[in-house]
Amino acid sequence: MDCIFCQIIAGKIPSEIIYQDGEVAAFRDINPQAPLHLLIIPKRHITSLAGLSDEETPLAGQMVKVANQLAKRESVAESGYRLVINSGAEGGQLVPHLHLHLLGGRQLSGTLG
Ligand code: 5GP
Ligand code: ZN
Repeated sequence: MDCIFCQIIAGKIPSEIIYQDGEVAAFRDINPQAPLHLLIIPKRHITSLAGLSDEETPLAGQMVKVANQLAKRESVAESGYRLVINSGAEGGQLVPHLHLHLLGGRQLSGTLG
C-alpha cells in the first residue's frame, strides 16, 4: 500500500500519533496552516468523503468527536477552531485517504475557498 497516511498508521513513515482508538488516529500536519493543525483519519483506508459508504457514515461522527476532544486538549475549544474535509480534486484533496483537518490557534480567514 503506497498510501502516505496508511504508512503513517503502520509506523513506516515517522510521525507522532497523538491520538488513536480502534477506528481513528490523529497526528500533526507536516505543513501546518495554523499554530494548531491536526489531521484526524480513519485507520482503515477510505479514499475520500465521497468514498464513504452509508454503513461507514458513523465513522465521520467518530472523527468529529475525536476532533472536539483534541480541540479541548490542545486548548482551542474556547478560542475557536475549524474542521475541514476536502473531497476530490476540485475540493482541494491532495492525499487520497479521508482526513479531517483541525485548524486553530489564530484568527482564521473568513473565506472558505
Ligand atoms: P488535503 O489537501 O489532501 O486535504 O490535505 C493533505 C494534508 O496532508 C496537507 O495539509 C499536507 O500538509 C499533509 N501531509 C501530506 N503529507 C504528509 C506527511 O507525510 N505527514 C504529515 N504529517 N502530513 C502530511
Ligand atoms: Zn490510506
